[in-house]
Amino acid sequence: MSENYQEMWASLGLNLEAHRGLLSVLSDAYQSIYLSQKNRPAGMGYFDFVVSEVHGLRIVELLKDKAAGKLIVGTFCVYVPEELILALDGVSIGLCAGADVGTEEAEKFIPRNTCALIKGFMGFKLAGLCPYVESADLIIGETTCDGKKKAYEIFDEITKKVYVMELPNKKSDEGRALWTNEIRRLAQKLIEVTGREITLDKLREAARVVNAKRRALQRLSDARASDPAPISGLDALLINQISFYDDPVRFTSKLNELCDELDERVAHGTGIAPKGAVRVLVSGSPMAIPNWKLHSIIESSGGIVVGEEACVGERNFRDLLDAFSTVDEALQKMADRSMGINCACFTPNDERLADIHNMSSKLHAQGVIHYALQFCTPYLVEAYRAKNSVEAAGLPYLRIETDYSLEDAGQLKTRVEAFIEMIRDVKRS
Ligand code: SF4
Ligand code: SF4
Repeated sequence: MSENYQEMWASLGLNLEAHRGLLSVLSDAYQSIYLSQKNRPAGMGYFDFVVSEVHGLRIVELLKDKAAGKLIVGTFCVYVPEELILALDGVSIGLCAGADVGTEEAEKFIPRNTCALIKGFMGFKLAGLCPYVESADLIIGETTCDGKKKAYEIFDEITKKVYVMELPNKKSDEGRALWTNEIRRLAQKLIEVTGREITLDKLREAARVVNAKRRALQRLSDARASDPAPISGLDALLINQISFYDDPVRFTSKLNELCDELDERVAHGTGIAPKGAVRVLVSGSPMAIPNWKLHSIIESSGGIVVGEEACVGERNFRDLLDAFSTVDEALQKMADRSMGINCACFTPNDERLADIHNMSSKLHAQGVIHYALQFCTPYLVEAYRAKNSVEAAGLPYLRIETDYSLEDAGQLKTRVEAFIEMIRDVKRS
């Protein structure tokens, strides 16, 4: 990334020396994990560029938007409706963090045994390394897992920008009514902060933009059902990660261009991995950028990741926002849409087990790797039911519990290689 951004980073209060170190580590990791892949689709060039400018050009754009009166809104969860933010001339940015950064600082505020994602977003801010948090006018949290909801109290003390939505634990009639009301309360909050009104036209335009993004992500997901897979799981994961912070209209157009290329690759039988490579579905905790650890291990062990039953993945784009004819109906439909997302924070959560089955079958997965971040209680506990359900359907299952560090990478690789070998044996027999 160009050094010309020094002034901008300094004006945002970043720790310039530590930030330089972070960019250098990221660039090395990207080089060795991403740019070393062979036979990638040419359309990945745009996404490589976006990553190379993640703290540069995109921040310049956000600051321009802010100067033009737009509200920059940081979010952490796919339950927060992006359409509502866009309808009030806001820009929605995902703030989840996928790297071990500022851990020491974070552990001064939250326990050591907190998941890496929470430590990551706290650590990025505390170490002065996140231009997104610094650019945001408002940060929307939610009462999902205990770690997040308690961490938001501290995050608000530090940033003075946090607004928390109350997400129910159950999808009962009462839970749905509570969530619909929370969407209405968020709408009021955004009206208050922006001084703007919500109009039907603005909502319709926002719904069109976000639904188009979801459709493009669905195309990408559909392309991965082919054998050979036309794109690596690593690249597909990256695109899903970028979907949370790139400009949605430009992102959609570039992704559709890439999907046209993938359609051609499928038609010509061009794959990123050989036909017959072991196909794996990954299911579990979200993988925020730049968490590429598990995909990198699977794909360097001869497997190919064909889908992510996760929030950085299918849960984010599977369902579109239905048509509406009044502002209140739009808010109701937003609540209904998000209640179709099956997060382990809910109980019971049988629908997620069905999602794993449906995705495995649509994408022709030959095994499921359940991924949970260490200390992520909802997904770690739900792994038990996921295992029983996947194995009952006759698919091999592997449970991984890890964090962002590379200390266990060797051990994980051994386990993943054995899992892939076992699937190969089953296929041979
Ligand atoms: S895993 Fe749950 S809490 Fe996390 S982003 Fe997804 S829905 Fe939100
Ligand atoms: S990964 Fe798990 S523990 Fe961490 S924030 Fe998400 S749901 Fe909570």
